Formats: sequence, structure tokens, C-alpha cells
Amino acid sequence: MNEIILLKLGEIVLKGDNRHVFEEKLVSNIRRRLKDLGDFRVYTRQSIAYVEPGDGPCDMAGAWEAMKKTFGVVDLNLALECEKDPDAIVRAACEYLGDRLRKAKTFKVESKRSDKSFPMNSIELSQYVGGELHDLFPHLKADMHKPELTVTVEIRDFSAYVHGDPEPGAGGLPVGTGGRGVSLLSGGIDSPVAGWMMAKRGLALDMVHFESPPYTSPQAREKVLDLASLLAPWVGGHAVHIVPFTHIQEEIRRACPEELFTVIMRRFMMRVAQRVAERTRAGALVTGESLGQVASQTMEAMTCTQAVTPLPVLRPLIGMDKEEVVRLARKIGTYDTSIQPYEDCCTVFTPKHPRIRPGMEEVKRAEEALAVDELTEEAYRGIERVMIPVSGDRRR
Ligand code: ATP
Ligand code: MG
Repeated sequence: MNEIILLKLGEIVLKGDNRHVFEEKLVSNIRRRLKDLGDFRVYTRQSIAYVEPGDGPCDMAGAWEAMKKTFGVVDLNLALECEKDPDAIVRAACEYLGDRLRKAKTFKVESKRSDKSFPMNSIELSQYVGGELHDLFPHLKADMHKPELTVTVEIRDFSAYVHGDPEPGAGGLPVGTGGRGVSLLSGGIDSPVAGWMMAKRGLALDMVHFESPPYTSPQAREKVLDLASLLAPWVGGHAVHIVPFTHIQEEIRRACPEELFTVIMRRFMMRVAQRVAERTRAGALVTGESLGQVASQTMEAMTCTQAVTPLPVLRPLIGMDKEEVVRLARKIGTYDTSIQPYEDCCTVFTPKHPRIRPGMEEVKRAEEALAVDELTEEAYRGIERVMIPVSGDRRR
């Protein structure tokens, strides 16, 4: 007997006339995620997306894991296919949900019938299956209001399906329905979470990472690519643009006041990211900044960094505490990689006393000592692109 996956669509159902755009995006995102996992049929009906095994072999467990990380899905269920016959349905429920039926104290059966030619109506079918299950699991009490377990039976065109309570999905909106962005990915805890949060709201992403060899090591780069790979099942396949940042940093150190080093460096990051955004046709930059976390994340410092790009700089963590970010990082699986102790280019040449409230005029004056456009262009031209497929398996 076949298993299928049922995905309940989230906010998509509120989208009115645009709804089909969201559904089509979700279906194409699902197909892309399942491409390496075998032969599946994917379609939507009445706010549910169905993932069914096709004719060839397929990895159902892998598909289930991939669907848990697909934005736009509020909850998901594995269901067992069976014959459209009341006793076959009872047998399938026992086989499939036996453990859960044994553990639960209360239950109810709910039936949905899209095949109206089925001889029982939904209420009759629920009563029949509920009665039979009660005979087989006499400890169970029926509870129509707050049951521990709801057994759902669906009668569809060719088969019936039985499933239990759903598991929570990733929520949000399908990646790509919110446009495209460029996410500045460091090796820290914050920036992977920031990218994840924006992807959750439907933003398709590419990443930019700044490195400063030999001050930063090959291991630091590997760590960032590992983070990008961990994000891929959530955000989709993407490119990591690795920007050589050493020359810029050395020039700032040589020619600018030490207290302004960080803010000027961050302005260069924005300029290069902006160039990448032009190329990828992105409409926003994303950072992991949080108000007041460090000197470069004060209002004044962020005003200085925002000023070099016309694109909105999205900072989804702006109002979050570190603890909340850590909790999310653990949930999405990036935390353990983020805390590996490799240096970031931000920790190279850090000033002892960075200016906490830099003024735009003093920053611009300090930058006059630098060939800003040439340095930006040189860094942009030196970019190495690493493609990360949606599975997270890295091919170069
Ligand atoms: P994180 O944990 O993300 O590293 P942080 O608290 O260390 O953040 P900063 O080092 O000030 O903060 O960086 C702020 C943001 O700037 C990061 O969240 C990230 O978006 C971006 N950023 C910092 N360093 C880099 C880098 N080497 N490459 C790309 N983006 C970076
Ligand atoms: Mg950092």
C-alpha cells in the first residue's frame, strides 16, 4: 500500500486572486526539492498540496524531511492509501496508526468525501470506523471536542487515505513569491538566521561572503559554505559569492582613522553586495544586524551603511535578543556550525575603540583618502561563485 504526503497551505489561502501564483510557486519549489529523491506526482486541490509516489522508485522518508523545510506549508501529514471500502479503511487505520491508537486515551474519526458516489456519507463513515476502532482498542474514549488523536479518512477518486494528526510545517510563504534578495552571510550565529527569516517570508536569496586571506583561513570559508549548505533545503538552491576583501581592509587600515574602520568596512560590504544585487536582479540586501548588539549596529552606524545603497537593507533580527536568535539557530540547524571558532574578516583589524555614533560627514571625509569605486570594482571582479544545490550537497 502506498503512502502519500499531504501539505496544508498556509497564508497562501488568504491571497485571493493572486492565489494561483503562490500555489504554482509552491508546487515548483516542491518539485525542485524532490527532483533528486525519485519519481513523485505533485499537485494542489483545495488548500492541500499532494505529494504522491510516481511509477518509479522514490525516497518517501527523504521527501518527508524535505517537505518539513518547505516554506508555505503550515502542517503536513503522511497518509496511507487503501481500498475504498469501510473495512479496508479500518484495517489501514490499525496498521498505520496502531501505536498512536494504543497510546491515546481519547480519539475521534473525521471523514472527508470528495467522491460523492461512496455509499456512506461522511458522518456514517466516521461512526462506522470509530465504532470498529473502539472495539479493537477498547480503552479509547470518543471525544469530539479535544481528542488526543484525530483519525482522518479521505475518500478520493481512486482510493481512500487514512492519517493521524499533522506535524507542524515551516510556515511562511513559498520562496520566490516575495522577490529576490542578496543576503550577507558571515560565519556567525546571526546572519544565517536572518537569511532564513527572509526566505520564510518568500524572498529568494543568493549569498555574499567577504573573506580576507591570509587573515582569514580556508577553514573559515568552509564553515560559511557549510552554513550555506545547511540553509539550502530551506531557502532553495543558491549561489554564494565569495568576495576577496583583503585589499579593501588593508587600504582602510592604511588611510582611515582607526575608530571609523568598522563603519567604513561595512559601507564597502554594502557597495559590493549592491553590485551583486544588480547582477542577480535582487531588490534588497539582508543582514543579521540587531540594534545595539555591537558598535556597528547603532542607529547612526546603520544610517552610514544604508546610505551607500539605494536598495532596502532588510534586518529581520533588528528587534531580537541574542537568546532568541540562538534559539532559532538551533531550530534551523545552523547553531553548531556557527559556533565553530574560525575568524571572520570583521574580526581582522578591529579597532580598540570603534566610534559608536559615527557621523556621515566624518565618514565621507575619511573615505576621500580611498579609491572607493576602484576598490569596490576590484573586489567585485574577484568574486568566486560557489553553487549550492537545494539538497545542500556541494558541487563546485
Ligand atoms: P553574525 O553572527 O551574523 O556574524 P555579528 O553579530 O557578528 O553577526 P557583525 O560582524 O557586525 O555582526 O556583522 C553584522 C552583519 O554583517 C552580519 O550579520 C552579516 O549580515 C554581515 N557580515 C558581517 N561579516 C560578514 C562577512 N564576512 N561576509 C558577509 N557578511 C558579513
Ligand atoms: Mg559576524
